[in-house]
Amino acid sequence: MSFRYQTVPVTPFQQNCSIVWCDETMEGAVVDPGGELPRLVATAQKLGVTLKQILLTHAHIDHAGGTGTLARELGLPIVGPHEADQFWIDGLPQQSAMFGFPPAETFTPTRWLHDGDTVQVGHCTLQVRHCPGHTPGHVVFFEPDSQRAFVGDVLFAGSIGRTDFPQGDFDTLVESIRSRLWPMGDAVVFIPGHGPESSFGQERRSNPYVRDVAR
Ligand SMILES: [Zn+2]
Ligand SMILES: [Zn+2]
Repeated sequence: MSFRYQTVPVTPFQQNCSIVWCDETMEGAVVDPGGELPRLVATAQKLGVTLKQILLTHAHIDHAGGTGTLARELGLPIVGPHEADQFWIDGLPQQSAMFGFPPAETFTPTRWLHDGDTVQVGHCTLQVRHCPGHTPGHVVFFEPDSQRAFVGDVLFAGSIGRTDFPQGDFDTLVESIRSRLWPMGDAVVFIPGHGPESSFGQERRSNPYVRDVAR
């Protein structure tokens, strides 16, 4: 079995929405459909991927703004994030107005996610880790066979997520990264919510916020 993905930056924030799929079944999921839904649907069609679900890392507008509409139009279940992001979901209409996004439909996830859960995409199994700090209900998705992690706004190449939002917390975010991402291994390549991919090993060496310190 083999896990595949294609990243499509969407919204004025260039959020890395990813279409992920199993190439044996060609069943897939869209991770963080923040907007530009026709482009996402067209990309899945072109790839020959049948979308079966929506996966959410967290409920900020650039990640979750298209979720309610896409779920309604395609009849897809919504998986994630953790229920601590409920207040961000409730606030999506205000978030879209504040940032000049198209009106976002609110929604109720079909399934909330918790640390240690797994999500099935075709024959591939994604592991879920709860990584609060940027938002309290932020989760990340890890596919061990391909060594890929979809980390939303927890970690970026050379930086980490903002923590100046309600219920954001810097120390909590750093702890999430060190205790829940690093154990996946230095070789893991991560797809951040914005900007280029990197590896956990690279960030442990050079990221000024979370690099290893000599003890
Ligand atoms: Zn965010
Ligand atoms: Zn973001």
